[in-house]
Amino acid sequence: MRKKKRRLKKKVYLFVFLIVCGFILLCSILFYKVKPSFKKRLNNLGYNSKEVSIIMENVPKRNYKFIKKYNKDLVNLIKSKDYKDSNFKKYFDYYEKNSNSDINDIITIVNSGYDFMKYTASSLLADLVKEKYFIYDNTSRYLDYGNSHDYNSKKIVAIVNSNADKTFYSDTKSSNLNDDNLVLVNKFNHLSDNYVPTDLVALSSKYNSGANNKMRKEAADKFMEMVDGALLDNIILKNASAYRSYNYQVNLYNSYVQRDGKEKADIYSARPGYSEHQTGLCTDINTINSSFANTKEAKWLSENAYKYGFILRFPKGKEDITGYKYESWHYRYVGKKVSKIIYENDITLEEYYAYYMEKHTS
Ligand SMILES: [Zn+2]
Repeated sequence: MRKKKRRLKKKVYLFVFLIVCGFILLCSILFYKVKPSFKKRLNNLGYNSKEVSIIMENVPKRNYKFIKKYNKDLVNLIKSKDYKDSNFKKYFDYYEKNSNSDINDIITIVNSGYDFMKYTASSLLADLVKEKYFIYDNTSRYLDYGNSHDYNSKKIVAIVNSNADKTFYSDTKSSNLNDDNLVLVNKFNHLSDNYVPTDLVALSSKYNSGANNKMRKEAADKFMEMVDGALLDNIILKNASAYRSYNYQVNLYNSYVQRDGKEKADIYSARPGYSEHQTGLCTDINTINSSFANTKEAKWLSENAYKYGFILRFPKGKEDITGYKYESWHYRYVGKKVSKIIYENDITLEEYYAYYMEKHTS
């Protein structure tokens, strides 16, 4: 009885074994028929043997599934120096929508890490995303502005970040007084008619030669430090005009408008409420005149003011951004940390504000 049982058991095992083997064999045949080798699949899609070997050499197995049809740029994509395996699917998805665009632009745009699916690939967009101060939320405005102006991407980013793609004095808002030393006052951000800084101090005659001799305490301290520092280099600096009240600016601006007309006056004088002089954080130094630009004092300031926390507020070549012509004499206090960043990166307060303050708080 026992022998018989054992023999029967053996038979059952053998039977099961054969069934399993047969099943595996059948599956393999089916699998091969339904899913040909990757190499064969590439051939079937239309890739030539040279392309197939490049693809097989460079594309990791996990990305095979994304290659579903012939793509004339696939080999160029893989061979590009900026190609990243991890972005493989994203390149494909973006390429699907932009098959006529340059593959290198597609790679650059995808590599930026932002979602640009709703934007058409272009060399302008590829240039923009490489800009240090690129802000994703401004993409449409960069493209609009860039497509209607013959500027490089750096300038497009600078202008749009500063809102200067809009008309000056349009879309204005109140300056944020919580920004303290960094308060932004320009042709889009204004102070109220009753704003007067609470910590104004008067500069003594050693530091001042004008009627408007007040500055906010910290700015005044740093200004005096700067004047003393300059003196060691035989450079004599004096404030010619610092804090100016709203009403003072009303009279000043109106007199300019009467003399030159509104359009001209707007290029060099601020409308009341829009003048940085109302902040008590800026100073016009020595000579309020373009002749100051060629003096050794102006040169010293342009090279050293940042060490004391001051920046040249309306630089040459940045007129489109600041909305003012070059003022070699107008310096603004922002504190040492920020003045260093602005100086070293050759940016304006507008650009700094957009990238380092607004972007990081929104
Ligand atoms: Zn000024």
